[in-house]
Amino acid sequence: MIPKQRILDVPIYQPGKPIDEVKRELGLTEVIKLASNENPFGCSPKVKEALAAELNTLAVYPDGGSMQLREELAAFLQVDPSQLIFGNGSDEIVLMISRAYLSEGTNTVMATPTFSQYRSNAKIEGAELIEVPLKDGVHDLDAMAEAINSQTRVVWVCNPNNPSGTIVTESELLAFLDKVPRDVLVVMDEAYYEYVVAEDYPQTIPLLDKYPNLIILRTFSKIYGLAALRIGYGVAHANIVGHLNHVREPFNTSSLAQAAARTALTDQEFVRSCREQNRINLKRMTDKFDELGLDYFPTQTNFVLVNMKEDSDVVFRKLLAQGLIVRSGNALGFPGYQRITVGTAEQNDKLLTAVETVVREALKQ
Ligand SMILES: *Cc1c(COP(=O)(O)O)cnc(C)c1O
Repeated sequence: MIPKQRILDVPIYQPGKPIDEVKRELGLTEVIKLASNENPFGCSPKVKEALAAELNTLAVYPDGGSMQLREELAAFLQVDPSQLIFGNGSDEIVLMISRAYLSEGTNTVMATPTFSQYRSNAKIEGAELIEVPLKDGVHDLDAMAEAINSQTRVVWVCNPNNPSGTIVTESELLAFLDKVPRDVLVVMDEAYYEYVVAEDYPQTIPLLDKYPNLIILRTFSKIYGLAALRIGYGVAHANIVGHLNHVREPFNTSSLAQAAARTALTDQEFVRSCREQNRINLKRMTDKFDELGLDYFPTQTNFVLVNMKEDSDVVFRKLLAQGLIVRSGNALGFPGYQRITVGTAEQNDKLLTAVETVVREALKQ
């Protein structure tokens, strides 16, 4: 078998370690996973009933156009139904964008470090990567605008950025959008949109009128707590949605995912409560980091990137031995750091005890 050479240059995604594997390997009975930015409160309890009702129709293909979810989400977002595209997670929309707009001879501009899927999909399509280093953990939008040339097709802005958790503000974004040529697609990946509390965070959907070269990606995987079902969406002008529909698989989102998303959308009280608890538990984490003298990036998400001042993989293993799975910064382009998801108050207590133990032991040596 002779594969395309360039796919072999794309690293196989290494997910956070699964809980059961860690329990078995280390002989632990209790393991807490704070590695994948999942919602520690699960999803709205109403979703389970909606899923039960779908179980009678498993033999039938889903509605490929997601018509009911499309109508309801369009009303919720106050956009036209033709402006929405659904994906098997927003990951799949990243794939569709790359497939539709990138090829050999084109390039794509993104920050580094940022969400790894932009890079992987661009490489699969054979496009050239132009990676612009973050400045103090934040997208350097001036440098990104300058990096755009006549071969550029897509620019990625992860806002808030994964793995740093930082945002670009409304005024920074508007200045940037005014500089981007109208035939270059700007992708705003807003996977953590619902967690943001900063007042200068840009509301991007109203910008679609003025900037028709924009697509906004959001997901039901994070605050809505439906990561297992794989459903996310894009909001853009209908002509961009049209391009993406050319490369979309006919039945790319399942009927279970569509039903769960529709119900989850109706429970905004759950979303609000998760956002509030996240800020409370996050504050407790950063207060403890301050006390221990650990630097971290200001975050608008449900995770925090913290500098533990020791090799990331070493700290990762020390925390793992105490039953805590976090994400080593070595894999994320931030050596010395750990990316830690904000858990429940109880998980937080255990995490902070373990972090304190690791830091104090390191000081003794
Ligand atoms: C989690 C995440 C996504 C993808 O989530 P899906 O589960 O595929 O919807 C996209 N972008 C960023 C920045 C993420 O952190």
